[in-house]
Amino acid sequence: MATESSDKDNAVRQEDALQPEMVTVEIAGKPFRVPAGITLMKSLWYTGHDVTRGAGCLGGFCGACATYYRTKDDPKVKTCLACSRAVEDGMSFSFAPPFPARKATYDLNQIQDHKQALFELYPEAPLCRNCNACTEACPQNIDVREGVWKAVFGDFQAVSETFMDCVMCGLCAPVCIADIAPSLVAVYASRAYGVREMAKPPGLFDRIKAIEEGQYHDDWNRVLRMTDEELQEIGEC
Ligand code: SF4
Ligand code: SF4
Repeated sequence: MATESSDKDNAVRQEDALQPEMVTVEIAGKPFRVPAGITLMKSLWYTGHDVTRGAGCLGGFCGACATYYRTKDDPKVKTCLACSRAVEDGMSFSFAPPFPARKATYDLNQIQDHKQALFELYPEAPLCRNCNACTEACPQNIDVREGVWKAVFGDFQAVSETFMDCVMCGLCAPVCIADIAPSLVAVYASRAYGVREMAKPPGLFDRIKAIEEGQYHDDWNRVLRMTDEELQEIGEC
């Protein structure tokens, strides 16, 4: 037969088992205890930080939560997206501030030579010194340095493919000793490639024309009147 004290011990043990394992992290220089395994972003909320900037899609796509971090006893500061990295005991991190990189403005329809225009819009691009700091700073593991060179040599298709996973977090710009904002150079090259070089899917323009001519007008109106259940049914077909 269980005694009153062993019942209490069991209750305490059960309660302990329900408590999450806790780790200590340093957020912007202050120590906090947070549950192990949660993301850096969740640890900010858990500790009552008012996240008014830097919380976006929370799925690793928008690049809003660019963060600098360092793990215990390692002097190297690395980068990550706060929504996609889990806390570790002894980790230290801070949100990266917005970096005022120069963003060129242009109208691709007004540009005659889209490859030459890169040097007018971003004259600093060919000054890349191959230091590779941008690649090391990229939380998406993009070969940023290689992408910049591909842009300079006019291989805009390769630029577009190289930067496919870029989330525009901007972490590659502050580290550049040549004042290049690689992701902005890549955006220009990718846009120019899409507008001027890429083969268009043959049916695309026929379909756009058909939409403009109202061929799907009745179908669209029918969809707009559907209930959620009806929409779900056609979505599963
Ligand atoms: S290329 Fe630059 S902006 Fe794009 S994900 Fe990497 S660090 Fe961020
Ligand atoms: S950080 Fe700047 S200079 Fe260094 S490799 Fe990247 S683009 Fe070139």
